Amino acid sequence: MIIRALADAARHLDVPLDGYQVKATPWALTLSPAGRAVSLVPLELTGADGKATPIRQAVPKVTRTVNVAPQLACDTGVYAIGMARPPAAGSDRYDWAAPGARDIECHAAWTQMARDWAASLAEPDDGVQALLAWLDSGRLGLADVMPEADADRRALAIGNVAIYAQGDPGPLHLRPSAVAFWQAHVNAAKSHHRGPCSSCGRESALVDTFPTGVPKRLVPGAGQATVALTSANFATSSRDLKITQLANARICAACALGGVAALTALADDRNHSWTGDDARTVWWLRSGAAPSIFSLLDAPPPAEDVRRIFDQVRAGAPLDGLASLDDEYYALTFSGRGPRLIVRSWVDTTLGEAALSLAAYFDDSAVARIGQPERQWQPLWKIAKSAGTRRTKSGTVLEEAPHGAHDALLRAALTGSSPAQGLLACATARSRAEIGLAADEPHAWRDREHARACLVRLILNRSPQWKGRPPVPGPTLDPDNHDPAYLCGRLFAEYEGLQRSALGSDVNATITDRVYGKAMVSPLMVYPSLDRLGKAHLRKLRTSGKEGAAAAIDRRVTSLVASIGPIPAALDVSGQARWMLGYYQQRAASAARAHAAKEAKEASAAAGLPPEPGDTTEQQITSPTQTRNQP
Ligand SMILES: [Zn+2]
Repeated sequence: MIIRALADAARHLDVPLDGYQVKATPWALTLSPAGRAVSLVPLELTGADGKATPIRQAVPKVTRTVNVAPQLACDTGVYAIGMARPPAAGSDRYDWAAPGARDIECHAAWTQMARDWAASLAEPDDGVQALLAWLDSGRLGLADVMPEADADRRALAIGNVAIYAQGDPGPLHLRPSAVAFWQAHVNAAKSHHRGPCSSCGRESALVDTFPTGVPKRLVPGAGQATVALTSANFATSSRDLKITQLANARICAACALGGVAALTALADDRNHSWTGDDARTVWWLRSGAAPSIFSLLDAPPPAEDVRRIFDQVRAGAPLDGLASLDDEYYALTFSGRGPRLIVRSWVDTTLGEAALSLAAYFDDSAVARIGQPERQWQPLWKIAKSAGTRRTKSGTVLEEAPHGAHDALLRAALTGSSPAQGLLACATARSRAEIGLAADEPHAWRDREHARACLVRLILNRSPQWKGRPPVPGPTLDPDNHDPAYLCGRLFAEYEGLQRSALGSDVNATITDRVYGKAMVSPLMVYPSLDRLGKAHLRKLRTSGKEGAAAAIDRRVTSLVASIGPIPAALDVSGQARWMLGYYQQRAASAARAHAAKEAKEASAAAGLPPEPGDTTEQQITSPTQTRNQP
């Protein structure tokens, strides 16, 4: 369950102890096993300049106003040793051994807390036994170790004294049982009942409200400086999210504190968190290992590297960071609603399963980029945003992912789920809406359209299978795919290339500018005019001496038209998505062909050979409408 997994994670993280603060602790009292004061000396560090400064360490944190409030096992001389409070004016006579009524009350409260701690221990602790024996004996040996100087006694009464068991280098108040006891004590006020903690199983004071929260900056949508977790919201949010074993979260203070500290540390660590527009996801392994494969989602390397990494995963080889594939893997997605933290989804699996899901995600979403075939993915957050709106406001470009898109993609990557089909409609609609960018902001268009192609291919690959479902194209142009929608997209890209070859930049509005959207939704509506225009462009190519190019294009167009058969009158969203991929991959293939032709030509020129006659229709690999004339 979530809290237990988080509390476990806290053990591997360098998180500050809740309920403690780092303060000067100028004195150390050492007790023998039998409970006799052995020494009471200053705890100091001597610097290079020879100056001594008191040691600083974590001590239990209390807020004292007029109340009596003891700190467990480490406190001022008044509380811990039972000394008198020194008089305000330094010149008055001071008898440390004559405490007032209030001083006695303070020491009694401190003593009682030490006894309560001892009583809470499951196993006896020699150090705690020594402390109790010392208190029971009336503080045996104290007068012998009391500092001589009046000034030291006054300082001791109001300075922190840490207590050590003889031979043990660590103070009593930082023992794990002391920390657990103190944290439970701090939170006892917030707790209404005791019972077995559903996380650690220990009988302890349970919390309804988590004693600390996660900072707002780490919780998308949070409305307050600190976002509170409650055991109730872990329980209720589980209902529609298939979280098991969370029916009634009963959580002890120690688990709650550890859980919140771990969640905060993970959310603050870029290697362990992803932020979408409206949610954050943190992941961790039970062992505390941190293999780097999960960072591939936000920074995908070239295809060859991705495939090599996942070949290793499939072969069962251990991952970097020495993580075993059997390690437990957790991912928690959350957001804020007002002052509350809301659990959006929860993944609880093994590292091996998560890594295989990741491999499948990369397989399913790969699409070779136009002009850079080795680049086959975009960062996950860019893929999410490519399906949302893009606008420019006062010179700043604002891109917004559809609600929940980032979260859905992460789950698709980590669990193999299918993102909502609604994203397919978003992606195809944005592809149509943004085709104008191809001319106006070609860099933005290439990035976003490539990301959309990845998204579309992922969703198509994970759509329900049924008999006769059109095959999903591979990462690069798929010559064996005879799906009419895919072929129509390819055909449109060929007509676009033909127009560019015939007219160059001498055109006001290309076919892409005018009918890209229509051609994707209703191919038959635009086909007759594309066919007519295409024939005119072919004539122009031939009359301008480019017979070879004209013949090559004509051959490809004729072959595509023959494969399509009847041109579809209308395409549904899935068909539009396949059309989109056809168009994109045909353009990528044409760009690759042009690039190869150019290299061959340069190679021949370098070798002093005459250029080979060939298809030179794709010399320009820039966007189709980039160089058009302004009307
Ligand atoms: Zn617990």
